[in-house]
Amino acid sequence: MDLAMDKATAKRVEGIRALGASQIRPLGLEADRLGRPTPPDHAFFELLLRAGQGRTRWTGEEAPASSEDEGARVGSSRTVLCLAEEMSYWDRGVAVSFPGPGLGEPPLLSMGTLDQKQRFLGPFQDPDRPRWGSFAMTEPGAGSDVAAIATSARKDGDAWILNGAKSFAANASRADWIVVWATVNPKLGREGHRAFVVERGMKGLADFKVERKMGLKAYESTSFTMSDCRVPTANLIGGEEHYATRAGFKGAMRSFNATRPLVAAMAVGIGRAALDESLCFARENDLLADSRIRDRLERIRRRLRVARLLCWKAAWLADYQRPNILEASMAKATAPTVALEAASLGMEMLGEVGARGDHLVEKLFRDVKAMDIVEGTGQVQRIVMARKLVGLPRD
Ligand SMILES: Cc1cc2nc3c(=O)[nH]c(=O)nc-3n(C[C@H](O)[C@H](O)[C@H](O)COP(=O)(O)OP(=O)(O)OC[C@H]3O[C@@H](n4cnc5c(N)ncnc54)[C@H](O)[C@@H]3O)c2cc1C
Repeated sequence: MDLAMDKATAKRVEGIRALGASQIRPLGLEADRLGRPTPPDHAFFELLLRAGQGRTRWTGEEAPASSEDEGARVGSSRTVLCLAEEMSYWDRGVAVSFPGPGLGEPPLLSMGTLDQKQRFLGPFQDPDRPRWGSFAMTEPGAGSDVAAIATSARKDGDAWILNGAKSFAANASRADWIVVWATVNPKLGREGHRAFVVERGMKGLADFKVERKMGLKAYESTSFTMSDCRVPTANLIGGEEHYATRAGFKGAMRSFNATRPLVAAMAVGIGRAALDESLCFARENDLLADSRIRDRLERIRRRLRVARLLCWKAAWLADYQRPNILEASMAKATAPTVALEAASLGMEMLGEVGARGDHLVEKLFRDVKAMDIVEGTGQVQRIVMARKLVGLPRD
């Protein structure tokens, strides 16, 4: 595994750093102060588009890059992780608000037909305006236990009828489409799952409500309902044949294996910001003469670097088409914990300054908690890893 950052990635990270200081962090602080997401018509999103952001990773080919040659490199997840970490250093909420297909992209890339990629990812190749995609698995009664989703899908001629409610879907109310997971039969558990692209304006898609969150306020996490929502059969991702085996559930899990290291890298970014701000506070307040404080700060830096290496290993395995379930879980279980510890140490050092609620470390402390929850909680990752350690199947 090559640990060096290639020149092109380093240049892009530098670009994000400049944008971070001038735009991303100020926007994140503003959203936090106002307690609402950055509106979709904000000039910042147009600026991002002109800078080449908001695009799909889909190259226009039918299948995602793959190779007959097992072990050949097919992706550049490391670059994506480095950019995500840097964006999150400046503000993770703003990073998630960036236009683009978002978490809806991995299932379309891995399971979608060429027609579906053209219809749903095509507009993101050279977008004419800021566009968003969304991903909705979680429901009021189904979070970690995704097998419990109750949104129903019933076939009716040339359409599927969806009924149910989803919650906490990122950017859902501004999205062109939402990848919605539903079940054809709850008794089948995960084997009954199907993924649909529900397009904005489809009849029955309604009740969008931006959730209140303790942190990460710059992007919307949204609940919505589907009442007899008629979705054309052409929007069932992968078509019916795709679900003849257990592939339906595996599709969702494959998506998570790709996105867990990404979320973990974002946590590393927040942790780094908390460490830098804590160091700055300690320096300004003559706290660095205390060896216990120096020791605790150093321990955080060391553990953040370890977490980053775990993220990179998971990404490297994915790029070389090797199984990465364990490494993706390790990264996801480790990085948010260290990042939370970084913010927590900062809060301890700040004392009453932190308690006033207007210091960046206090905001990071609120932002970072969600990183242990999204894309599979830390507890759930530990269950997955422990089962793997003793040779039990995943579930
Ligand atoms: C900021 C944010 C953004 C999100 N974005 C999205 C999104 O874009 N799309 C989407 O679909 N969802 C999204 N979610 C939802 C997220 O995926 C769920 O919150 C997560 O899966 C956990 O589900 P839950 O909140 O229902 O908690 P629960 O599953 O009810 O878990 C509650 C607690 O119990 C623990 N627990 C659960 N099962 C077990 C077990 N078997 N053994 C031991 N402990 C267990 C958990 O670790 C947790 O601590 C988002 C959530 C947040 C907070």
